[in-house]
Amino acid sequence: MVTYSQVIHDNHEGGGLLLGRLIIDCNDVVVDDITVPNIEDQSGRFFFLRKGLAHQEKLKIRWLQSNGTCNYLGEWHTHPEAIPRPSNQDISNWKRILRETKFESGIYSL
Ligand SMILES: [Zn+2]
Repeated sequence: MVTYSQVIHDNHEGGGLLLGRLIIDCNDVVVDDITVPNIEDQSGRFFFLRKGLAHQEKLKIRWLQSNGTCNYLGEWHTHPEAIPRPSNQDISNWKRILRETKFESGIYSL
C-alpha cells in the first residue's frame, strides 16, 4: 500500500480490496493480502474507482486457495493528505458496504 502513497503532486489515488481472515470467537480480523490498482481502474488526484474483474478474480483465487478462509474484508484507497480524513463519499460507501455485504460469521451488522 505504501507504494501508492500520494507523495508527489501528480500521484493518483490508489486502492483495492482487503483480503483476510475473520477470527473465531472475537471481533478481530487479520488482513493477509490486498489487491492493488490495475489498468482497468480509473483514478485521479482525488478519486479512485475499481473497474473490471481483476480485483474480484484475485479474491476468488485467494478464497479457493485458502479453502474459504481468505475472505473479502473491505476496501482501501489512498488520500493526498498526510493525515487522511474520510470524505462524505467514503462514509457513505462504508455504510453501503456494511448494508450489502454478507459475512458468514455474522460479526458485521448495522
Ligand atoms: Zn477517501
